[in-house]
Amino acid sequence: MNTRLYNARIMSMADGSKVTDGEIWIENDRISYVGNAAAADDISKKGIKFDIQKDCRGNVLMPSFKNAHTHSAMTGMRSYADDMPLWDWLSTKIFPLEAKLTNEDVYEFSKLAMLEYLAGGVTAVFDMYQAPDETARACREMGIRFVGCCDINKFGPDFSEVEKRYKRLNTDDGFSKYFVGFHAEYTCTKELLKDLSDLAAQLGSPVFTHNSETRKEVDECIERHGMTPTQLFESLDMFRNGGGGYHCVYLTDEDIEVFKKHDLTIVTNPGSNTKLASGIAPITKYLDNGINIAIGTDGPSSNNSLDMFREMFLVTGLAKLHDMDAAAAVPSKVLEMATVNGSRCMGLQDSDVLAPGKKADIIMIDMHQPNMQPINNIADNIVYSGSRANVIMTMCDGVIRYENGEFLGDVDAEKIYDTANRIMNKYRE
Ligand SMILES: [Zn+2]
Repeated sequence: MNTRLYNARIMSMADGSKVTDGEIWIENDRISYVGNAAAADDISKKGIKFDIQKDCRGNVLMPSFKNAHTHSAMTGMRSYADDMPLWDWLSTKIFPLEAKLTNEDVYEFSKLAMLEYLAGGVTAVFDMYQAPDETARACREMGIRFVGCCDINKFGPDFSEVEKRYKRLNTDDGFSKYFVGFHAEYTCTKELLKDLSDLAAQLGSPVFTHNSETRKEVDECIERHGMTPTQLFESLDMFRNGGGGYHCVYLTDEDIEVFKKHDLTIVTNPGSNTKLASGIAPITKYLDNGINIAIGTDGPSSNNSLDMFREMFLVTGLAKLHDMDAAAAVPSKVLEMATVNGSRCMGLQDSDVLAPGKKADIIMIDMHQPNMQPINNIADNIVYSGSRANVIMTMCDGVIRYENGEFLGDVDAEKIYDTANRIMNKYRE
């Protein structure tokens, strides 16, 4: 299958957020050409026959978004338990309901999430949840890359399951990866963390977890262990193969040094931190320290949206408020976080930018909408005034999965909505 996307503005992210006019060719799952239209004049001389040719009408082609922290199957619990602080919300509403979920429920709720990802230009998710095989199955069926992170804690699953999942879910087809991880310090014993550290070293896996999401979490860890979560993990040699933390709202200067030492990623989740009143991450400080920062939506019951545009606006907006500096976290940096940096922490460097040889994970941003005009600065338009309604094409692995409001292939969105409602009707009190 050969595809040609011509008459485009290209923000390849290979050179910051610079935009050039031109076109992109795709041969099966990979990009074969990114360049100007003049060089494409002699297509016939090259003997290429395109199966699909699309006039992009001056719209923007850019790398797809990588959602670097989510719990996809929590779509079922969207607007089910709101306006509560993190621990009350988890312990009284979320954990009891999750204990009742079947694997099939996780699969169906994950499919609902996939629709939202595709409609918002997301082609890869870094997902932490129970029954990860079910989310991986939903991802594969809907054409989204799954990168799983183990959610083990003192309530389960059995420790032997971590290695089994790691071996089962790391596949060669580019659609499923799995890393060692754990839910959080406050749901794990020190012994369990030590065992996980050893297993990660043995498997050569990076380790990710929820880290320093709330002030309470950090204070209680210091009470229990005499150290912050990051320092506890470091004392257990957790990051021998890298990894990182989700949220990271309350890292100390010493914690930041641990992140630098092991080249760890901070996955920031500003929507969730805002809604749960957890706090504002000091993004400028992390940027100044040269830490890889990626962006995740967190789960759809703590956010409640899986929208990377909203997250991007919150990353820059909250950084500006935190610093009281309108120049904090500029759009070019935020776009890097949502694309290139996410790819890096998820082991998806093959689909980080638009360049020949890279995987064709591409989205098209519609500039023919009022919120994207005039075109003074495209990166600023996307981050400050853009919305997922501007995504008019989502391609993953060279296959267009979403276009002009329609899900392509064998996808029945109404059926997915009905099934999600039917499942929740069963559980809702
Ligand atoms: Zn989370």
